[in-house]
Amino acid sequence: MSLRIAEHAERTDPGRARRGNEDSFWIGPPAFVVADGMGGAQAGEVASRIAVETFSAEIGADGPPEHRLAGAVRTANARIAETARTHRERAGMGTTLIAALVGPQDVALAHVGDSRIYRLRDEALTMLTRDHTLVQALIDQGRLSEEEAAVHPQRSVITRALGAEHEVEVDTRTLPARDGDVFLLCSDGLTSMVDEDTIARILVGAGSLAEASAALVDAANAAGGRDNITVVLFRLEEDGEDGEGAAAGPPTEAAEAGPPPADHTQVFSAAPAAPPRSDVAARPGARRRRSRRVTVLRRGAITVLIVAPVLVGLWVATRLVYFVGTDSHGLVAVYRGVPYDLPAGIRLYERFYVSGVPASIVPPGRRRTLLDHSLRSERDASDLVDQLELGRVAR
Ligand code: CA
Repeated sequence: MSLRIAEHAERTDPGRARRGNEDSFWIGPPAFVVADGMGGAQAGEVASRIAVETFSAEIGADGPPEHRLAGAVRTANARIAETARTHRERAGMGTTLIAALVGPQDVALAHVGDSRIYRLRDEALTMLTRDHTLVQALIDQGRLSEEEAAVHPQRSVITRALGAEHEVEVDTRTLPARDGDVFLLCSDGLTSMVDEDTIARILVGAGSLAEASAALVDAANAAGGRDNITVVLFRLEEDGEDGEGAAAGPPTEAAEAGPPPADHTQVFSAAPAAPPRSDVAARPGARRRRSRRVTVLRRGAITVLIVAPVLVGLWVATRLVYFVGTDSHGLVAVYRGVPYDLPAGIRLYERFYVSGVPASIVPPGRRRTLLDHSLRSERDASDLVDQLELGRVAR
């Protein structure tokens, strides 16, 4: 007696807070894969797409299932790392990856990062992967409880990703499977928004996997949809015949790559403080030398006529560019303007947005490219800080 894939369903959604979708997936029964990319300026979309494309091309190799999985993941890792190394605008990109390969009696799994695989059996949901995250490491060391981890500000900082280095450690395991087992592969856009009891209730209550996948995405969006959401579901059943005939689909295409970030030249440095205030109070009195005062005013008016267009131009320019730096409290912040001071203490920038992320938690290898005061579009600067706030920065 062997198992066949009786049904599968998959869905991806940008969520309600993100403009793009950095998740990718590929369905090629008996193989399934989900990748959740990270990196500013749309590099995360590139990383997750390379991951699933490479995986889909490599998983057909010969060998035991776990070897095939690990081999495909390692090849994907090398390809992403190489792309990041040779394309400056892709530097620092990475992705998680989870994959399942269904055999006649069992299911082999592979995993790197904080995307997860669950199994629903007899209405009970079991997590089959262990997150490669900072908080999971702290839990394992007994330094953090599950409850504390759930609200920890750095709860989605991951400790392993594809693309960070030329070698990656891949966790693999094989579990015996049974008739009726439902497997769920998902990105953290689901699990950070929807608790496991709710996920189990949706899976148990849905009439089909298609219905379940839609309900899971809806639940994540109803809870805020702070991140991209991807769910892939498949159900196994016993079958004496040869199983599954579903065709392999192409990897999902994420959005096009955006504009490259500005060139990096600056160093990680000084904390700009709040912009200066120039509330000038009118002072009464001193009316004696009226004629002189008029002269000064007239000269001032002429100067203003000449200088004002230049100043206005400069001011407009400083409205259009942004950079990422650190504020006086050591928090990563987005500034509007250019990172320079004029004489007389006039700053050409103002604080636009202060994140909740201390610069000290940004891994040293990433600090230079993140906090270098490069001029960026508002979108690029905001994307970078989004990634930081969601903790999606590897090493
Ligand atoms: Ca995510």
